[in-house]
This record gives sequence, C-alpha cells and structure tokens, in this order.
Amino acid sequence: ASHVRTSRQGRLTFGRPVRGVSSPDTPMQITLQNVEKKYQMGTETVYALRGVDLEVAQNEYLAIMGPSGSGKTTLLNILGCLDTPSAGTYVLDSERVSTMNQDALADVRNRKIGFVFQTFNLLPRASALQNVELPLIYSGIRRRARRGKAEALLERVGLSDRINHKPNELSGGQRQRVAVGRAIVRKPKVFLFDEPLSNLDAKLRVQMRTEISKLHRRLDATMIYVTHDQTEAMTMGDRIVVMKDGQIQQNDTPLNLYKHPVNQFVAGFIGSPSMNFIQGRLEAEGDGLVFDEGHLRLPLPKEHHDGLQGYVGKDLMMGVRPEDIHDPDTMGRGVEADEIEAQVEVVEPMGNEVLLYLTTGKSSFVARVDPLHIPTVEQRVRLAVEIDKAHFFDLETEVSLLRQS
Ligand code: ADP
Ligand code: MG
Repeated sequence: ASHVRTSRQGRLTFGRPVRGVSSPDTPMQITLQNVEKKYQMGTETVYALRGVDLEVAQNEYLAIMGPSGSGKTTLLNILGCLDTPSAGTYVLDSERVSTMNQDALADVRNRKIGFVFQTFNLLPRASALQNVELPLIYSGIRRRARRGKAEALLERVGLSDRINHKPNELSGGQRQRVAVGRAIVRKPKVFLFDEPLSNLDAKLRVQMRTEISKLHRRLDATMIYVTHDQTEAMTMGDRIVVMKDGQIQQNDTPLNLYKHPVNQFVAGFIGSPSMNFIQGRLEAEGDGLVFDEGHLRLPLPKEHHDGLQGYVGKDLMMGVRPEDIHDPDTMGRGVEADEIEAQVEVVEPMGNEVLLYLTTGKSSFVARVDPLHIPTVEQRVRLAVEIDKAHFFDLETEVSLLRQS
C-alpha cells in the first residue's frame, strides 16, 4: 500500500500525515487519486474539482468544509456514486468506481451508500415507521419482515417510542434520525451528509450536531459530512478537509487546522472571530528580527528566525488570533507577550469576554479580552500580544512560513 503515503503527500494536500487515522498499511475504504471534475460552459472550462487526493478509513468521521462553490457537493456526489470524475481514480472497498458505467455505479450506490440531504425528504403524511420502510418496499421483502427491520432500525436510532408519529409530530432532531434510519435500512457502508443542518435555526443546529456525533458512535459506519460552517466541522469531524476553488487546501485534525494552518485561507476560515491579518515589514535589529507595521513594532522570538530569515527587508503578513491578544492586567501568569498600544473603535461585551475592535492607525484588528476592565470607544489601550503564537504568510503565495512551529 505504498500509494497511501504518496497520495497523502500530494501536492494539494500539503500532506502532513494525520496521526491516529490509520497506519500506512491499513487498507483504505475510500481512495481518491488526482480526481478532477470539469464542466464545459460554452468555450470555457469550469473546474469543480482539481487534483483531489483523499483517503478515508473504515468508520472514519470526516468533515468536508469550504465556502459556497468550493466543490463540496461535487466531491460528495462522486464519493456517493451519483457522479463520476472527469479524470483520476476512485476506489471504494477495492472496487474501481471511477471507470464504471451508470448501471454498475447505481448498483454500488444501492449496496453501499446512504445519503442524508439538507431537507431530509421525509414523506409528510407517513409515519416514522413507514418512512423508514419505504426503501424496502421494492426490494421484495415481505411486509412483516419489512416492518420488523424498520422497527429495529428506529430502535437503533433511539426512536422506538415514536414509530407512529408523523414528521410534523417529531422534533427536528427526531426527524433527522428518521432520515438517517431510512438511509441505514439498506445497511450502507458509507453515510454522506450534505449540509443537513443548514435549514435549521441556531439552537436546533447545536442539538443536531451532537445527535449526528452520537449516531456515528452507535452505527459503526463511515460518515462524511459536508458543511460550510466551521463550528460544525470543528465539533463533528475527527478530521477535516478544507476546500477552496475545487482544491483541497488542508486535510487535518481540527486542532492542527487551528494551530498549524498551511495558508492564509485556512487560517482565516477557522476560528471565530477570524484571525487578524496585519501587513508589515521584517527587519533585522542587532541579532534579532522585528516585525514593523509602521505603528507597531514587535520583536520576534528566536524560534521564528530560521523560518523567516529569507524575508528580511520584505513585506509579509502576520496572523494573530483575537484570543492571543490580552489585557496585560488580567493576562494569565507565565504568558509571554509583547506590549502594544492601539485605539479602541468598537466594544462588544459578550458577557464572559469582550471583543475589542482596534486600530493601530494603519491596521485594524480584534482582541478577545477578559471583561474585567471594559475600555471606552476612542480610548488608547495597552495590549499584550503572544507573538510566539503568531503566524506569518507570504504576501503572494499566502503560504504559512512557520508551519514547523
Ligand atoms: P459547493 O457544494 O461547495 O457549494 P459545488 O460542488 O456545488 O460547490 O460546485 C463547485 C463548482 O462547480 C461551482 O463553481 C459550480 O458552479 C460548478 N458546478 C457544479 N455543478 C455544475 C454543473 N452541472 N455545470 C456547471 N458547473 C457546475
Ligand atoms: Mg453544496
């Protein structure tokens, strides 16, 4: 299985191997190699996917995240055998799906895939039981056996006391479970969710998030979950694939995405409020390096020197998360930080914290500070920046320059 290593090092995944997912010898349930999907729009070729390398192990819980139009649905439809790639290979449980004709593809889909869509698609006048039974009606199974199966499934998703309820008599979370029940009735190996929560209100979304995670534990199946919502992806997947413009930007654990984003896009996409980006020039000072924004001057710690040496005298982008900027008076002991000064433009008290929208006179940024001292608008404040947690990006390529840290 040597390809397992090489595709993880693929040029678009910036592949650092993901720990805890699988050893290089584990057979993968899903392997995509150099997958491309293109559409001809008149004379123009639109790439919905490009150079996608992806592996998913049996029973993994994977989130696919990216802004609208980044190729998530296209990728999910290929994974779910609803569509085939224009180029590249897709192997599912050692079947080479990418070269199959429509009939063979439909057969794999029926045997292996369970889709749960945004709208659940339940029959409104049918009971939970009838909704789950539906996919079995044409399978030739007798009515009594069908019933038994559907009942057993509803019990498995924790709904045995709701089998005669119609969709409008069920909560959103329960409806979702019926939809999942209907998807599992044919025992799929892979569950695919395409933004199943995006039509729900905020409170219900939070509830459903935990429902789906519980289901994953209960079902012992591979789950692939598409979302444009970073909180959803961060809290639901064991691993997240971040997409942009049809390409995988990073394929990593939630924590690694937060701590070690490969580029400015991933850095800005994950975390709320978003990472601050401040442009400045790198200067040598004595035997050290200083980031000079014009108003801000921040000496950089020694461990950053090697990675940034080539940028002395050049402009680059610094990235600092709002939570790494503190009120110096309430900052935890032992935190190493450099003091800066800035002017407050907007104050947003959140209760447990305060968001300060600040300006240096040149750059704007946000700090997420302790609510003990709440400054007023236009006040000049001192802040402490944890510079050793800062990221630096090349202005042109937007690649992170300190990934090894
Ligand atoms: P997402 O689900 O991330 O919002 P999609 O996978 O739906 O993105 O679409 C990715 C890109 O491919 C978009 O630019 C979209 O316009 C294009 N695309 C998708 N399907 C088609 C199609 N059938 N014909 C032409 N372009 C398409
Ligand atoms: Mg979509």
